Amino acid sequence: MKELNEHIVCCLCAGYFIDATTITECLHTFCKSCIVKYLQTSKYCPMCNTKIHETQPLLNLKLDRVMQDIVYKLVPGLQESEEKRIREFYQSRGLDRVTQPSGEDTVGGDPMGLPYSTFDHSRAHYFRYDEHVSLCLEKQSSSKDKSKAVLQHKYVRCSVRAQIRHLRRVLCHRLGLPLQHVQIMFNGETLPDHMTMKQLWLSRWFGKPAPLLLHYSIKDKRR
Ligand SMILES: [Zn+2]
Ligand SMILES: [Zn+2]
Repeated sequence: MKELNEHIVCCLCAGYFIDATTITECLHTFCKSCIVKYLQTSKYCPMCNTKIHETQPLLNLKLDRVMQDIVYKLVPGLQESEEKRIREFYQSRGLDRVTQPSGEDTVGGDPMGLPYSTFDHSRAHYFRYDEHVSLCLEKQSSSKDKSKAVLQHKYVRCSVRAQIRHLRRVLCHRLGLPLQHVQIMFNGETLPDHMTMKQLWLSRWFGKPAPLLLHYSIKDKRR
């Protein structure tokens, strides 16, 4: 369970991501409230020490709805308990809950700096209504690969906004492997983490029938 959790757990609070927020410079992810608080006294990523921004690190944070959706899918009951907690937080203070106007994802754009005021949790469901792509994930056969890990279900549907890194995380989670050991390839080419399914489909699979065929390779642990 520890290995599975490493991809969906915040290193600052050791809990599952809540309002998953990613640093655009290094793509490390934290809870929004954890990283906002941390950056009050630092300009560096707590995981890799990358300098986030010269003066205003909050500008390089992005709410990561795909990641939050993944966490909610992998952790049954988390979304409900989090929504309950937020309701109680506001009720206990006699406040109306403020929700975010649509289209604004930048954490730094929150003028109050209140961790729970700007993210409308009902929109975490939004990805379910997105345009989807169907993928088929085949294991790349390689003589160097000693691992026996193979996906049980090789067909995956995901949002066109999902990125390769999200796919890698889901794959690692299902295979029980560390993130750096799994790569996603198309036709022998390793795909970059930031590529979205939409970019992938338009540039590599346009006009072809679903599912889009991808390969995954598992690196030898000794390397
Ligand atoms: Zn956290
Ligand atoms: Zn980092």
